Amino acid sequence: LVSRMRQFGTTIFAEMSALAVRTGSINLGQGFPDTDGPASMLDRAVEAIRSGVNQYPPGPGLPQLRQAVSEHRSGHYGLSYDPDGEVLVTVGATEAIAAAVLALCDQGDEVIAFEPYYDSYAASIALAGARLAAVTLRPVEGRFTFDPDELRAAVTPRTRAILVNSPHNPTGTVFTAEELAVIAELCKERGLIAITDEVYEHLTFDGVAHVPLATLPGMRERTVMISSAGKTFSVTGWKTGWVCAPPELTRAVQTVKQFLTFTAGGPWQLAVAHGLREELAWVAELRAALQSKRDRLMSGLSGAGFEVLKPSGTYFVQTDIRPLGFTDGLELTRRLPELAGVVAIPTQVFYDHPERGRHFVRFAFCKKDEVIDEAVTRLKRLG
Ligand code: PMP
Ligand code: GLN
Repeated sequence: LVSRMRQFGTTIFAEMSALAVRTGSINLGQGFPDTDGPASMLDRAVEAIRSGVNQYPPGPGLPQLRQAVSEHRSGHYGLSYDPDGEVLVTVGATEAIAAAVLALCDQGDEVIAFEPYYDSYAASIALAGARLAAVTLRPVEGRFTFDPDELRAAVTPRTRAILVNSPHNPTGTVFTAEELAVIAELCKERGLIAITDEVYEHLTFDGVAHVPLATLPGMRERTVMISSAGKTFSVTGWKTGWVCAPPELTRAVQTVKQFLTFTAGGPWQLAVAHGLREELAWVAELRAALQSKRDRLMSGLSGAGFEVLKPSGTYFVQTDIRPLGFTDGLELTRRLPELAGVVAIPTQVFYDHPERGRHFVRFAFCKKDEVIDEAVTRLKRLG
């Protein structure tokens, strides 16, 4: 393995899901729902396969999906993207992020990301030979946020881009208009590109709305906006994502994407196009259901002795394990199957400064109520 990848090893999601299978534990680690997406959308994928949509789609993606993404962006956010030239279909958001970083960041460039961060960011930045500069999100009155001065101080003459994930995995923070304005001002002042990861754009709670960074003044022209179908439609295994960006940025990302995968799977693209057009009411129901699951898991975890931090978005709850007498989340999550028959994710692996997240453990609530309840019953053994 090349030196730039040597630090990466196996992702925590693979490690913890394998641990769950091996020990027969309830898996509240890796974030994937245990119920399917909208039936009409699943049918569309089957019909697409049966009707012969089985050869290479065009590199930028099937026109039906590019059109649907464009309409969704304008209908939801008032953002206009030309389906021919400003929308690119990718193999999940993961490929979009990797292709964007590889296309836009040179060897020695710096990319700012908020820690804890989704683990593919560090690997993509390393593959590009660039350097990740982590700005830490810290809980302030129970909500993870950043210090604007720390963010400003992280910018150097080598800074090329900032990766912004909102709603944020794993903290559940949805950046406010004020927080986004700080980021936007910095991007404009210092000439940075913003790469936004908005895969949880529809999964927000308590009436909190997701605001895309690209909607702020002067940002559309410098933002590579990324999302995917996995979380919105509970089809994480379909790996269908997209990039929306001005033509020059889209072309750059596509140049790289051509040689990573050339194109993404066809049947999913047609089905997701249908989902974006016809199934947003289903998504609204999913959001409401997830909010009640969040509350269910939060109250269960508090009852089990965890300190629980309330997320405004995503399907993850962050907990502080110290009230239970534990100090190291990695140690605890590796023992959790034997202690309680449950699997969770140690948040510290998403930090460049692991000591800042040592006492946090992430639990997923995108599960059936009875699964959440059983996990909570088991976790009460810890107290
Ligand atoms: N970004 C974040 C923040 C995520 O949590 C995930 C995990 N699903 C992804 C990107 C990857 O999305 P996809 O499965 O569409 O590649
Ligand atoms: N996004 C999901 C999570 O954060 C799963 C990611 C993965 O398996 N790579 O749990």
